[in-house]
Amino acid sequence: MIRTLRPGLRCVEVPNGDVMDDPTNMFIIGENPVVLIDPGSMPGLDTVVDTLNGLGNPVVSEIWLTHVHIDHGESANEVRRHTGAPIRFHELELPELHATPHDIELDGPIATGEILKHTGYAFEAVLTPGHAAGHLSFVETSENFAIVGDLVTGWGSSAIFPPWGDLADYIDSLQLMARRGSNPLYPSHGEPVENGPEALQRFVHRRLERERQILEILNSDPLPAEKIRDQLYGELPQDLINDVTGNVILHLEKLERQLEVQRIDAEGSVLYRRC
Ligand SMILES: [Zn+2]
Repeated sequence: MIRTLRPGLRCVEVPNGDVMDDPTNMFIIGENPVVLIDPGSMPGLDTVVDTLNGLGNPVVSEIWLTHVHIDHGESANEVRRHTGAPIRFHELELPELHATPHDIELDGPIATGEILKHTGYAFEAVLTPGHAAGHLSFVETSENFAIVGDLVTGWGSSAIFPPWGDLADYIDSLQLMARRGSNPLYPSHGEPVENGPEALQRFVHRRLERERQILEILNSDPLPAEKIRDQLYGELPQDLINDVTGNVILHLEKLERQLEVQRIDAEGSVLYRRC
């Protein structure tokens, strides 16, 4: 189902099949020609094609990707073949793309700060790394709403996966976008975030608070990440343990780079202590 978010900006939920439970919001800018943002993964290709058919097959002038994760761009080559539209994303996405099994042609890179004009809208491509190295948010320059990819979701902040994800960059990007005051934020998953700057501030605060708690825990003895996790979260359901541990390790690595925490390799186990 196509939703109109504002004049000249529509959105379709593209299913991701086995790739992930949540669908991806594909954004459609303009009436004819249109620009498509993030057409999603291959299981959603039929939805993209049906949507274009339902719109009377407008000319697709370009396909923009916020980043190259499978649920954003896996189908881009097929959509390009179907429509003839060139694919554009930030070149900083190429190392991660080359390390993944899916392939996406880069027809024209989008530069940091580039102004992308289409049917009355002018979007600034703001580099917002952290979730992905070349992650872009598209900020409309006169109305100041933003299409933000995975900078946030409709229900919270985003997951960071090393080695391409970087927590320090992510927090910087949240702060950058909070300062810009864009509102609303249109994420790739979930509903629009109607209180953009406040939500971004809240996510920054939460992450920095977590960091402060970790430092406090490490005030006493050196500990492995698992023990820190237990002190922070207590007992966790089995299916969350790996993700939560990974998140604690991301914080520890960030603190290590800030020279606030030191990693000690002690007889096969890794401990962390405060510097
Ligand atoms: Zn992503």
